[in-house]
Amino acid sequence: MSVDMATSDPEDATRSRGTLLMKVPGRARPQKQALKEFNEAVTELRRRYEPAFWPLVVPEARDMFRWRVLLDCGCAQEVYTHGDDRFPDDRSYLDHMTDAQLPPGEFWCAATHASAPNPYREIVEWCDRKIIDFPADPEEPEYAMDPETWALIRHDGPHSSAFWRVKLECGHYGQVCTEIAWKPEDGPKLASRKRITEMRADFEESWSTDGDGAWPAEGPEREHLRKMLDLRWPRPAPDQDCYTCAHISRIVGYQRIGWLVRRTPPVPAPAPRIDRDKIAARLAAAEAEVERLKHQLSSVEN
Ligand SMILES: [Zn+2]
Ligand SMILES: [Zn+2]
Repeated sequence: MSVDMATSDPEDATRSRGTLLMKVPGRARPQKQALKEFNEAVTELRRRYEPAFWPLVVPEARDMFRWRVLLDCGCAQEVYTHGDDRFPDDRSYLDHMTDAQLPPGEFWCAATHASAPNPYREIVEWCDRKIIDFPADPEEPEYAMDPETWALIRHDGPHSSAFWRVKLECGHYGQVCTEIAWKPEDGPKLASRKRITEMRADFEESWSTDGDGAWPAEGPEREHLRKMLDLRWPRPAPDQDCYTCAHISRIVGYQRIGWLVRRTPPVPAPAPRIDRDKIAARLAAAEAEVERLKHQLSSVEN
């Protein structure tokens, strides 16, 4: 179930709406169960946010319309839209990896599926950053490193790094660590040609001697590493692998279930125009009666 209602994309004129309506295999959950789970999710949102934010982040059960959606992984899931005049691909859903909003039409399936390796995606936007402070590294090597390598990279005093939130070409978000002084307009730092020749020789040697245990294994990761060597090891790198791309599903169909809270049909309001006509007719009849009585009275007086 997805209760997050953070955003809906503005009407996108390039997409035709409601084109994925279909019969989704399987059955909807009982309404009582759906409402119970919805209320539990609302309680959790109320716990997480200050009451001042509730009108923005906590959806009302009476506004929620239920749908079953079919995903391209073959799973069917239940989602909500705000009202029955929106379709499940009109709104965006949460990226469970980064807590960002996914591009419309994408959905994080709750089931676990075998996935392809993460594809590499270009960074298209450096959004914002946070600075994180670290204490001095221990003297004993960490990460199973040999003492010489550890001595080269070890920080012997407290240090800080910038962690940037970046937008990738696929519309998903990632994180990149840089030095604090670095700004996007500085561009990446490149290694010297001499250093690249050494690095390339070291990698090629370890790949040929370590065989199947070599890192990274033959495949997209090693290809990417070779590409970075060709580009002189730019830091920060211009791209990164996207976990979300490898794990996201697309909405391929949807079917209406109904309102989360059953609605009683509104009593039709009396049409005021008809009432006015009736009153006008009664008034005219009354006026005619008055005239008739007046006339009768005057003829008696005479
Ligand atoms: Zn699935
Ligand atoms: Zn992606």
